[in-house]
Amino acid sequence: MKKFFWQLIGVIMLVPVLFLVGCGQSETQELRRVDTAMGTVVQQTVYVMGKNDRKNSLTGDILELIRKLEEETLSWRLETSETFQINTYAGSGKWVELSKELSQILEQCQKLTEDSGGAFDVALGPVARLWDIDSWAAGQRTGSFQVPGEQELTDALIQSGMGQVQIQFLPGEECADIYLEDGAALDFGAVGKGLALDEISNYLESDGHITGAVVSVGGSVLTYGEKPDGTAWRVGIADPGDPSVNMGILTLTGQWYISTSGDYERYVESGGVRYHHILDPGTGYPADSGLSSVTVLAENGLLSDGLSTACYVLGRERGMALAQLYGAEALFVEKDGEIYMTPGIEDLFRPVD
Ligand code: AMP
Ligand code: MG
Repeated sequence: MKKFFWQLIGVIMLVPVLFLVGCGQSETQELRRVDTAMGTVVQQTVYVMGKNDRKNSLTGDILELIRKLEEETLSWRLETSETFQINTYAGSGKWVELSKELSQILEQCQKLTEDSGGAFDVALGPVARLWDIDSWAAGQRTGSFQVPGEQELTDALIQSGMGQVQIQFLPGEECADIYLEDGAALDFGAVGKGLALDEISNYLESDGHITGAVVSVGGSVLTYGEKPDGTAWRVGIADPGDPSVNMGILTLTGQWYISTSGDYERYVESGGVRYHHILDPGTGYPADSGLSSVTVLAENGLLSDGLSTACYVLGRERGMALAQLYGAEALFVEKDGEIYMTPGIEDLFRPVD
């Protein structure tokens, strides 16, 4: 099934497809494209109005934004990124100056860590490395998976968490300084895709010719503007039991940031047990909060993505309270298939029979 999926992606990963909607001077063109970036599938449908010289390169430019964000800022793996460079200073006893962009991201992540009681934590790098999560996704694992030992996990947990990181803004400065204790490591896996959506939405707005778009980066989706025929955006919520089908549809108009965290997205099996990629910073093990997935709709991508991870770890009741603290909407799918949601999206969600 996995092989078939990648073959399918290979087939559809072609040059952008152009469709004409309407006619004459005010014609709207539909650009569609599917690629991989940030270790996941990126799908774009963009509606461009009139004569836009950049229309042929537009979807390529959007893809480039995502790759650049990964390569220059967020990746813990690529030497070219600021995060990688900062992590190398852990234990050096030195403070390092962050870029304005990463200063703002970290400030918001730190707030989400506090508001979630530590359920969301971008300084969980040592534990995430121990589980070797990224190799599950890349399908590069050879040999059988070894569940980390208790002692290894305890040691990694000691080096993990925002308690191992200090961030300091000097008065009037936009760039913060950061200090990492020995062994500490930042990992923006829980917000990277949402941050990509934030960059994309700024880009779409600045273009001036884009009337509508729906862009997904893995489990995070941005809807923007409207479709030429005026119908609403339809965003599917995967069935955690069989992610190839939707268990429900969100019908949305205008701009939304929608992120899903689910135990089916990345996992590995060992001894008949499934280990997924959303970790409980309290235990170091995959979160076991009674949920299979959480979908969050928030005012920006950082929040939709960060909150979906946090809410998954917290479980339904505490997750619901956190989402509401941020004025976000959330939909929880429990392990037994029961669905719960915040009142604000009851009218937007329809289960698939
Ligand atoms: P997501 O799929 O958005 O829920 O993010 C999961 C990814 O974020 C994982 O692959 C890890 O790299 C990282 N991660 C896992 N658990 C947490 C957590 N509790 N807080 C922050 N990042 C996490
Ligand atoms: Mg997330």
